[in-house]
Amino acid sequence: MFDTLSDRLGGVFDKLRGRGALKEQDVRDAMREVRIALLEADVALPVVRRFVDQVTELAVGQSVLKSVTPGQQVVKIVNDALVEMLGGEQTVGLELDHVPPVVILMVGLQGSGKTTTTAKLAKLLKEKQGKKAMMASLDVNRPAAQEQLAVLGEQVGVATLPIIAGQQPVDIATRALQSARLQAVDVLLLDTAGRLHVDDQLMAEMKAVAAIASPKETLLVVDSLTGQDAVNVAQSFAGQVDLTGVILTRMDGDARGGAALSMRAVTGKPIKFAGTGEKLDAIEPFHPSRVAGRILGMGDIVSIVEKAAATIQEDEAERMAARMAKGQFDMNDLRMQLKQMQNMGGLGALAGMMPGMKKAKAAMQSSGMDDRVLLRMDAIIGSMTPKERQRPDLLNAKRKIRVANGSGTQVQDVNKLLKMHQEMERAMKQIKKMGGIKGLGALFG
Ligand code: GDP
Ligand code: MG
Repeated sequence: MFDTLSDRLGGVFDKLRGRGALKEQDVRDAMREVRIALLEADVALPVVRRFVDQVTELAVGQSVLKSVTPGQQVVKIVNDALVEMLGGEQTVGLELDHVPPVVILMVGLQGSGKTTTTAKLAKLLKEKQGKKAMMASLDVNRPAAQEQLAVLGEQVGVATLPIIAGQQPVDIATRALQSARLQAVDVLLLDTAGRLHVDDQLMAEMKAVAAIASPKETLLVVDSLTGQDAVNVAQSFAGQVDLTGVILTRMDGDARGGAALSMRAVTGKPIKFAGTGEKLDAIEPFHPSRVAGRILGMGDIVSIVEKAAATIQEDEAERMAARMAKGQFDMNDLRMQLKQMQNMGGLGALAGMMPGMKKAKAAMQSSGMDDRVLLRMDAIIGSMTPKERQRPDLLNAKRKIRVANGSGTQVQDVNKLLKMHQEMERAMKQIKKMGGIKGLGALFG
C-alpha cells in the first residue's frame, strides 16, 4: 500500500550512517520524504508546509545516537513534533463543570457522523460517568432525522426529546432545555442539521441555537476520510461558532489520520474523541501518539530510538559509576565528557544533565566560551602525554607551554582547562560521597 516513512528515509540516509550530527542539507532531503508521507496521509498542504519548516529547524544540528540510523532519528524527531502538534500525550475529555443541564452542541456536515456520535457520547456519559443524559435532534431538514436519533436513544437507553412536527431548530432547542431542567438532566446533547456543504443558512441556524442554549461544548464532527476537504469545513465552522473541540469519525477506515493534524492546526482546538466504527460503543479518547504513528506509518521506529537513547545513558552511567566508585576523574574522563557535550548538542544542551557539568558550563559561559571551545579543549588534551592525562598535576609551566604549542593554543587556555577539570573532579568526589552509584542513578534518572 504505502511505503513507510522509514523505508523512504532509509535511502536518503544510507550514505550518512554513523556520522555525528544531522546536517541541514540531509535534513532537507529527509523532509522531502516527510512531506510526501504527510500529503499521502491527507494532511492539508498549508499545514504540511508549516510543519516541515518547524521540524527542519528543530532537527538540524541534532546528534545521531550510535545505535540507530540518522533516518530513524529523523523519524523520531518528526514523530515527537507530530504528537506535540496533535496536542501532546494527554487525552482531553469533555468539559462538564457547569450548572446542569450542561449543553453539548454537535455541529458538522451532513453524513459526518453527528447523529451517531451524539448517541455514542450519550452512552459514554451514562455508562462511564454516571450522568443523566438527554438528546434532542434539531435536524428538521432530513426526513426522519429526528426518528433516527430516537431509535439510537432506545438502543443506548438515553431519553430523547419527544418529536413535535413542524417545529424549527430554535424552538426545539428551547423545549429541550426546559425539558432537561424539569427532569434534572445532567447533560443535554443537541444534534444539529448538517448540509452537504457549508452554507449561510446552516451557520445562521447554528448561531441562533448557540445563543439560546449557551453550550459548554461545541464539538465539530469531521469525517477523517474527507482529508483535504476537512480543512475547508473546519475553517468555515471555526470562523462562525466558538468551537471547543473536534471529533474525528471513521478512524476505523483506511484514512491515515492526516485530517487530525489539519483539524488541530486550523481550529487550534483539541481533538477529543475518535469514532472507530458504526457500533454505538465505537468511540475512544483521541490519542495523539497513536495517530502520529499512523500518519507516518512507521511501526515502532520511535520505540527503537527511545530504547537506544536509554541504553546509551545506561552504558555511560555504568562506566562513570565504576570510575566514580574509585573517586577517579582524569583528563581522559574529561575528554569523554567534552565529546558527549558535543554529541548532546553542545553547551546549550547541557544544563540539567549533571551538577558538576552545570557548574562547569556556567564557568565556561561567564568566561565567554562557546562550542568551538569544546574542540579546542579536545586538542589540548590530545597534546598531553598519556601520563599527563592521568595525572594533570604533573603539568608544570614548561609542560604547559609544550601542550599549548602542540594544540595551537595559549598557556592560559591550558590553565582554564585544568581549572575546569579540578572543578569537575571536585563535583565527582562529592557525588561519590553522596552515595556513588546510587546517587548517580538519581542524577541520570
Ligand atoms: P450525520 O449526517 O452527520 O448525522 O451522520 P450519521 O450519524 O447519520 O452517520 C452517517 C453514517 O456514518 C452512518 O451510517 C453511521 O453509521 C456512519 N458512521 C458514523 N461514525 C462512524 C465511524 O466512526 N465509523 C464508521 N465506520 N462509520 C461511522
Ligand atoms: Mg444526523
